[in-house]
Amino acid sequence: MVVGSVSRGCQVVVIGAGPGGYVAAIRAAQLGKDVILIEKDERLGGVCLNVGCIPSKALIHASDLAEEVRGAANLGITVAGLTVDLPTMVKWKDGIVRRLTGGVKFLCEKNGVEVVRGRAELTSDRTLSVATEGGQVAIQFEAAIIATGSRPMALDGFPHDGETIIGSSEALSLPKIPERMVVIGAGYIGLELGSVYAKLGTKVSIVEFLPELAPALDPEVAKALGKRLKQLGIGLHLGHRALRFEPGNPGVVVAQGPESELRVEADVVMVSTGRVPNSEGLGLDAIGVATDDKGFIKVNDKMQTSVPGIYAIGDVVGGALLAHKAYQEAKVAAEVIAGHPAAFDSAGIPAVIYTDPEVAWVGLSEQQARERGHNVVTGTFPFAASGRAMSLGATEGFVKAIGDAESKQLLGIVAVGRGVSEFIGEATLALEMGAYLEDVGLTIHPHPTMSEALQEAVEAALGKAVHMMNK
Ligand SMILES: Cc1cc2nc3c(=O)[nH]c(=O)nc-3n(C[C@H](O)[C@H](O)[C@H](O)COP(=O)(O)OP(=O)(O)OC[C@H]3O[C@@H](n4cnc5c(N)ncnc54)[C@H](O)[C@@H]3O)c2cc1C
Repeated sequence: MVVGSVSRGCQVVVIGAGPGGYVAAIRAAQLGKDVILIEKDERLGGVCLNVGCIPSKALIHASDLAEEVRGAANLGITVAGLTVDLPTMVKWKDGIVRRLTGGVKFLCEKNGVEVVRGRAELTSDRTLSVATEGGQVAIQFEAAIIATGSRPMALDGFPHDGETIIGSSEALSLPKIPERMVVIGAGYIGLELGSVYAKLGTKVSIVEFLPELAPALDPEVAKALGKRLKQLGIGLHLGHRALRFEPGNPGVVVAQGPESELRVEADVVMVSTGRVPNSEGLGLDAIGVATDDKGFIKVNDKMQTSVPGIYAIGDVVGGALLAHKAYQEAKVAAEVIAGHPAAFDSAGIPAVIYTDPEVAWVGLSEQQARERGHNVVTGTFPFAASGRAMSLGATEGFVKAIGDAESKQLLGIVAVGRGVSEFIGEATLALEMGAYLEDVGLTIHPHPTMSEALQEAVEAALGKAVHMMNK
C-alpha cells in the first residue's frame, strides 16, 4: 500500500482497465515498455467483463435455456415443474465474471504490467496523479493512454435509484424476477435484457422514441426482430417519448405517443437510452486534450489526441461502443507508441445484437451501399431452407449478402438467426481481405452448419444458389 505522497515513473501509463485499457497495457508490455495500468474499481475488466458483454451473455444463455426447455414438447422433451431461481442464476453469472476478471489480473502480472488501484487525473502532458487508498501517487510518463470508457446516460423524469429505476448494471443482478418491467430505449442493451426477463416470465414493455426498430439496419431485420419480440409477449411502443415515472404499487411509466399518452405499469424500469463518455475529472481541459460536443475525446487513426504523447481508445473516443473496437484501438495505440507503423484501418467493425434470433452485421447495409453510389446486387438465403436450422428448431431469419453489381466485390453482410454471431467474423475476414462474392461462394463450408447460409446468400447474389430458387 502507498502512504502519503509518492512519485513514480514509467514509459507508458494506461488509465482504465476495461477491454481497451488492459489490452493496451499488455500489448505495450509485450513490446518491451515499462507499463503502469491504473484502475479505480476493485476489479479489472471494465464494463465489459463486470457489467456488460459477459454477464449479459451469461443471463441470455440461461434464459434461452429455460425458454427452450419450456418449448421442447414437440421434440418429445417435457420437464415437469420447471422453476427458475434467479439468485442462483446470478451467482453462476458472478462466478464467470470472477474467473474472467481474475484472468485479466493474471495476464497483467505475467506480462509485467504494474496495476495501481485508484482514480487518475492528468496534471500535465507528462504527469498524472492517482488518488489511491494510501494517498496520492504522482506518475511521470512518456506516453499516456486514456481508456476510461463510458457510463449510462441519465434520463429526465427517471431518477436512477438502483432499485425501481435501474440501469443495465442492476438489471444483471436483480434479487428477484420482476412481475412487470418497462425498458426505455430499444438499443441493443434494452432489447437483450428485455428479452432475458421476458423469457424468465416478466411482462416486459419497451418504450422507444424512434418510430422504427434498428433503423440503421435492414427493414427485414426489424421485421424479424419485431415478430419475435411479440411472440415473447413483449409490448413494443415505438415512436413514444418516455416522460416520467409515477411511483406507486405498481408505478407507472408515462410516455407521449404520436397521438396519445401511454401509461404502462412497472415494478422495475430499466433505462437504456445510450451512453456518455467518462471524460470529465481527467484534467483534459487543463492540458488541452480536445473533445467533441458530447465529450468524446477526438483522436486520429493512430489513436493520438490533440496533445502529443496522449492517446485515447475505446468508448471514451466514441464511434461503435463495442469491446472489440476497443481491443483493436488498444493494439494500435500500443504499437504506435512502440514506433510501429500501425493505424486503425479496418474494413468493417462487426456488430451483434444477442437477441433471439441474434442479429449480426458487418460492412454496408443495402441502403448504405446505394447511398454511396454502388449499383447494388443482393442475395438472401432464408434459414427456413437450411437443414441445420431445421435440426436446431431455428428456422427464423436469413443471411443477406450485399455486393457491387459491376465489380462483384462483397460490401456487407447482415444476418438474423440462431448463432449468427459465430460466423459474422468470417464475413468480416472476407471484407478485410477485399473478397469478391465469388471468393465466399467458392469457399467450402462444413455441412450442416448455419454458416452455409453465408455461402448460399453470396451464391444467390451471383444467381447461382442451389438450395433455393434463384430470382
Ligand atoms: C449491458 C451491456 C452489454 C454489452 N455487451 C457488449 C457486447 O456483447 N459486445 C461488445 O462488444 N460490447 C458490449 N458492451 C459494450 C462494452 O462493454 C464496451 O464497449 C467496453 O467495455 C468499452 O471498453 P473500454 O475499455 O473503452 O471502457 P470500460 O469497459 O468502460 O472501462 C473503463 C474503465 O476505466 C475505469 N476508469 C474510469 N475513469 C477512471 C479514472 N479516472 N481513473 C482510473 N480508472 C478509471 C473504469 O472504472 C473502467 O473500469 C456492452 C455494454 C453493456 C453496458
